[in-house]
Amino acid sequence: EPVCLIVLGMAGSGKTTFVQRLTAYLHKKNSPPYVINLDPAVHEIPFPVNIDIRDTVNYKEVMKQYGLGPNGGIVTSLNLFATRFDQVMKFIEKRQKNCQYVLIDTPGQIEVFTWSASGTIITEALASSFPSVVIYVMDTSRSTNPVTFMSNMLYACSILYKTKLPFIVVMNKTDIIDHNFAVEWMQDFETFQDALNQETTYVSNLTRSMSLVLDEFYSSLRVVGVSAVAGTGLDDFFVQVSQAAEEYQRDYRPEYERLR
Ligand code: GDP
Ligand code: MG
Repeated sequence: EPVCLIVLGMAGSGKTTFVQRLTAYLHKKNSPPYVINLDPAVHEIPFPVNIDIRDTVNYKEVMKQYGLGPNGGIVTSLNLFATRFDQVMKFIEKRQKNCQYVLIDTPGQIEVFTWSASGTIITEALASSFPSVVIYVMDTSRSTNPVTFMSNMLYACSILYKTKLPFIVVMNKTDIIDHNFAVEWMQDFETFQDALNQETTYVSNLTRSMSLVLDEFYSSLRVVGVSAVAGTGLDDFFVQVSQAAEEYQRDYRPEYERLR
């Protein structure tokens, strides 16, 4: 039974590059993944994919046909694709005996997937049949400001509660900056408060209280530092994936099976 990795993250965080790196890594381990691209607007994918939304919907045509802008075109394309997702499920089921991982790359703009009906339909279809894990990719090099970091984590937290799936935070781009500072902020509340206190901008009490709330979220969070470009951190990543898959079987599967 394959594990589905649903790769989410802000535009430019490195989702596509990470999926590419995972694909290469798994090929090397003689465990080729089943790869699905759900981004209708990606220009080129520099690696082989098994299912590509662009083969089914042309988002530029969708824009023209429905008189939409780029964002509306992407959302509508994903909606059209979601109506046929049962066919995708059949393809995955056919492959399930000889495939350990299904990798799902999502549209650049995170909200297209996380705050749309189609994203929910696709996530629930996957999670009601296979162990599924949300991979939240973040750009570590752009999260060195404590307020930005906290916003990013609040977003991650909201996705965790929305998808109700095991969750791994992938701190990407560690070739630019080590993710230690972030781990420290998450483990030691006072270091984070100190970082906040050094902010010259106005930081309200709300921000401080917010970080107290996040403390609870952090305590159960899986975090791994990687570089999608350099290919580091992947062994550790797959250790976390197998733990998350176990967590799915134990805590999430019963809930999702009721949806079937
Ligand atoms: P997506 O929008 O989340 O799919 O992001 P992309 O995979 O398209 O990557 C956005 C940009 O970040 C590209 O210029 C990538 O080359 C760059 N990038 C992705 N991963 C890394 C990384 O690990 N290190 C560095 N330095 N750059 C990265
Ligand atoms: Mg992408």
